[in-house]
Amino acid sequence: MVEIARSKTDILILGSGGAGLFAALHAHKADPSLSITVAVKGLLGKCGCTRMVQGGYNVAIAKEDSVERHFMDTIEGGKWLNNQEIAWKLVNIAVERIHELENDLGCFFDRNPDGTIHQKAFAGQTFDRTVHKGSLTGIEIISRLAEQVWKRGIDRLEEHRAVALVPSRDGSRIAGVLMTDMRTGGFRFIQAKAVMIGTGGGPSMYKFHTPSGDKTCDGLAMALRLGLPLIDMEMVQFHPTGLVAGDDTRITGTIIEEGLRGAGGYLLDGSEQRFMHEFDERGERATRDIVSRAMYEVMRQGRTGPNGGLFITMGHLDSRMVVQQFKGMVDRCRDVGFDLVKGLVEVVPTAHYMMGGIRFDENCFTEMPGVFVAGEDAGGAHGANRLGGNGVANSTVFGGVAGDVMPGWLRREGAFAEPDETVIDEAMARCLRPFANAGGNVSELRLKLYNLMWDEVGIMRTADSLRRGLAGLAELERELQATGVADDGRAFNLTWHDWLNLESQILVSRAIAEAAVAREDSRGAHFREDFPETRDLDTSANTVVRLRDGAISIGSIPVAFTRVRPGQSLLADDAAE
Ligand SMILES: Cc1cc2nc3c(=O)[nH]c(=O)nc-3n(C[C@H](O)[C@H](O)[C@H](O)COP(=O)(O)OP(=O)(O)OC[C@H]3O[C@@H](n4cnc5c(N)ncnc54)[C@H](O)[C@@H]3O)c2cc1C
Repeated sequence: MVEIARSKTDILILGSGGAGLFAALHAHKADPSLSITVAVKGLLGKCGCTRMVQGGYNVAIAKEDSVERHFMDTIEGGKWLNNQEIAWKLVNIAVERIHELENDLGCFFDRNPDGTIHQKAFAGQTFDRTVHKGSLTGIEIISRLAEQVWKRGIDRLEEHRAVALVPSRDGSRIAGVLMTDMRTGGFRFIQAKAVMIGTGGGPSMYKFHTPSGDKTCDGLAMALRLGLPLIDMEMVQFHPTGLVAGDDTRITGTIIEEGLRGAGGYLLDGSEQRFMHEFDERGERATRDIVSRAMYEVMRQGRTGPNGGLFITMGHLDSRMVVQQFKGMVDRCRDVGFDLVKGLVEVVPTAHYMMGGIRFDENCFTEMPGVFVAGEDAGGAHGANRLGGNGVANSTVFGGVAGDVMPGWLRREGAFAEPDETVIDEAMARCLRPFANAGGNVSELRLKLYNLMWDEVGIMRTADSLRRGLAGLAELERELQATGVADDGRAFNLTWHDWLNLESQILVSRAIAEAAVAREDSRGAHFREDFPETRDLDTSANTVVRLRDGAISIGSIPVAFTRVRPGQSLLADDAAE
């Protein structure tokens, strides 16, 4: 029998990104008597993607801007697939949240000479509304958040990986979460009245990808196994400018920020010619989906640089501006041998963000009582395409909302429930399976997954490529289940964690591929070469994926245009596209 430690907390928060830390702070503020635990795969304050935010935070705080304009940009960018109540809450509470970040939490953002907060241009927006701290905005936000969480004595379990959401015996509510303590390899069941999932999604199953290494879609995989629906999983955003720094470094695929294109940077093909105007009149300032697709097409035509990528250059712009505004990017490029100020930097589109995720409402409730979700794990705010700068706004806004809402829910309905022990036993058996097999090559499987998803379920898709992708994923799943981990010590066994990572990534990759098969039109980040047109916007629907007896089932739900219909606008002087 496998040993298992047990403990209790009122609120258990999974993940310590913008969503997790804001949830902890707000829940503590709402009711300091609650026991709150943040359990996180990495180290609190040092992991996840909020810390990696470069460009900044979208918020309508300028006099000439408005939440209605931010909302319309978000909806039009999302190609009318957004949940409008969620998007509305996002743009409104972002205003409150940015003041909270500055005034309550102590963040410093860049300012104009007149003392107002500086806001820069990001692609796809009709107003320059991206608040930032140079190009290292996330470090500022997450450091200040972490300090406040430490100060309040909120419990934390670092290097603790959630492996299963465990329902109550009758299946009617959440009972807690099964975790493994990565430092010892032991299991721990944490009984909780409420659980918030904030593990940050992250399309880390693609050959080129940006998210931090701790993000392997665990929250989404756990939600599927619990029976929760995911929406719009086909919507994977590729960021146009991932660095090409060689095969042997994780820097390859990590991004240099969108503000470079916003500030006037040019994209060049292998012959150093601009090409974006062949695809969109906005050129380099078109939205990420359009730029990434154009780049992929140019790469497919063989118009590449020496290492298979394309180039970005800032050389025609004022060097002082580039150094001043993008110091972090200049340093990062120099670290891998590129001169961003005067030279060419080789780049490829790179998998960056999942617009899809766990279905939730604007108060962060999911289908299961006691399970809340916020941040990149949650689907609905961005529709078919996320605007740069709306990601960290989303995680901090809805993390705070979940933190506000959970204490009230606990008072009304919260109770500790006895867990379904069979779910715990099955989850432990699933996690320990690789120790029963002979050692194998987990890294090789990971590379196969990267290439399969890039080639068949990537920036351009067809029914045939997706079928090949699904067949390849089924084969990979079989291979993984037959592959063992040679070292049977569980303490800090990173190969074991790689195995567990792959299990989550393959399951979520299946969800992406199945949803991509189901959506027979092209919009936003999802492009079907066999269905290149966007269908009637008035009958837009979200794809819904569930896991039933190991098989993915697909459904759809019509988008409710609760605030504005396609063709209309909330802006009096503006007719929407
Ligand atoms: C390089 C980069 C640059 C970006 N730049 C911008 C930008 O300029 N503007 C913008 O708006 N957005 C940007 N984004 C997107 C933005 O970072 C994310 O949308 C957002 O921060 C996600 O916040 P989150 O709290 O949901 O997740 P994260 O901040 O990613 O945190 C996830 C947390 O979950 C933990 N975790 C994962 N699995 C488990 C598990 N099984 N058990 C326990 N814990 C787990 C992780 O360790 C981590 O602590 C960028 C992303 C990247 C990668």
